[in-house]
Amino acid sequence: MENRTIFEKIVAREVPAEILMETDDTIVIKDINPQAPVHVLIIPKRKIEHISSMGKEDGEIVANLLLAATTFAKKNGISSYRLVVNNGALAGETVHHLHIHLLAGREMGWPPG
Ligand code: 5GP
Repeated sequence: MENRTIFEKIVAREVPAEILMETDDTIVIKDINPQAPVHVLIIPKRKIEHISSMGKEDGEIVANLLLAATTFAKKNGISSYRLVVNNGALAGETVHHLHIHLLAGREMGWPPG
């Protein structure tokens, strides 16, 4: 049975995506359904299902995800942005492969919807 997520297939280059940046353990892609003028996803190449399933052994990879997000922003001259991780269906999580959303290019409301 096929139980790999769409992001695993994108990491394996089996499904096309606009890959904007790549590091040893992450890729940064354009979101297919952008919610802001800049909306990218920072994805670990090695699958962690949710932020809530993160273990101590995942500390370095999660730190590298954040580093990839801030590096992407710096490289693209983006100084104001929001990083979002959805965990659980009620929070809007739809793909069960950890990813950070980086949203920018418009004023962000607070509290988020
Ligand atoms: P979540 O809802 O899990 O926090 O975020 C999943 C994100 O993945 C959504 O913003 C959705 O638009 C994006 N997404 C889902 N499928 C694809 C795809 O095939 N390609 C790309 N580039 N983004 C996708």
